[in-house]
Amino acid sequence: MSAQPSCLIVGAGMAGLTAASALSAGGWQVTVVDKGRGVGGRMATRRISDGRFDHGAQFFTVRDPGFREQVELWVHRGWVLPWFEDGGHTRYRAEGGMSQLAKHLAAPLNVRSGVKLSEVSPLGNGWRATSDTGEAFDADALVLTAPPEQSLALLGDCALGLADGVVEQLGTVDFDPCFALMVLLNGSSRVPEPGYFRPQLGPIEWLADNTRKGVSRGPRSAVTVHATGDFSRMNFDAPLDEVASRLLVAADPWLGGSVESWQIHRWKYAKPVAGTWPGCLFSRAPSPVAFAGDGLAGGRVEGAFLSGLAAARSLKY
Ligand SMILES: Cc1cc2nc3c(=O)[nH]c(=O)nc-3n(C[C@H](O)[C@H](O)[C@H](O)COP(=O)(O)OP(=O)(O)OC[C@H]3O[C@@H](n4cnc5c(N)ncnc54)[C@H](O)[C@@H]3O)c2cc1C
Repeated sequence: MSAQPSCLIVGAGMAGLTAASALSAGGWQVTVVDKGRGVGGRMATRRISDGRFDHGAQFFTVRDPGFREQVELWVHRGWVLPWFEDGGHTRYRAEGGMSQLAKHLAAPLNVRSGVKLSEVSPLGNGWRATSDTGEAFDADALVLTAPPEQSLALLGDCALGLADGVVEQLGTVDFDPCFALMVLLNGSSRVPEPGYFRPQLGPIEWLADNTRKGVSRGPRSAVTVHATGDFSRMNFDAPLDEVASRLLVAADPWLGGSVESWQIHRWKYAKPVAGTWPGCLFSRAPSPVAFAGDGLAGGRVEGAFLSGLAAARSLKY
């Protein structure tokens, strides 16, 4: 490695941004690339007209003392704030929407959005990653934070050179998909205070009124509807407008009947439902590479944060 080691991080979600911050603080030269238009990954916020919707992660909880320290700093800076309490845990939301927190974290980093990598392969003692437009990124080390199936696809045959057990452990991770329907209403929703509801029946797992939540500032309710994992799996390949119609009917009691417009997003890898949760996985061969992301850490924003940190540590920053 050169005097200032370099690292390429694939993914600007919570895991990638956390690893990038830690490695940068440790003197590494870090580049983060993400195929999305912006940063945040599944901490995603979308606009429809004057409505703003968190359509991926809705909130996060804190259990780990190190994460608590980090969250207290974010609260102090006004980036996150408590939304509601449930089961003894505070649910935190990000000011302006979940993607806004990612934007704050990305601001001091070298992040390239809209770059989809199609291949990574060893180059000398390090790596060369190539985007789908042919742009090359060289680095001493690699951190892969996409869902394991996608990270393995990027590595292709190089995965055969990874340390014993890494591919097998990555292969145990399975995700539930999730349909996220975003509905802009003409008036107010019937989602109760403080702006969320979990129906215990039918295809809907979660409803949130982003206006009550404080994310959408418009006069009209902007409601996010998440389908259950079972419904999303069973209807994964169904036409999106068909899925949306079924969710709109199921959500009607909380929408108040005055739908102005809607959009639907299909998360293929929404939440990990099976895996061994090692935190992260590291292999020195064929060149230094760490695998991170919530899929290795039991899911959730907190898991992604801890996994990103573990990945940075595995590179011995
Ligand atoms: C519908 C839904 C609801 C959720 N609700 C909650 C919740 O309430 N509370 C909670 O704590 N968590 C929740 N989660 C989970 C939470 O969003 C995730 O745990 C966390 O955001 C994962 O972060 P990550 O960095 O591991 O992965 P991601 O955020 O998925 O980041 C991975 C990034 O890699 C990028 N990428 C992948 N392949 C490539 C490539 N080839 N080239 C370039 N970039 C690439 C992707 O674009 C993505 O941005 C929810 C998730 C979903 C989808």
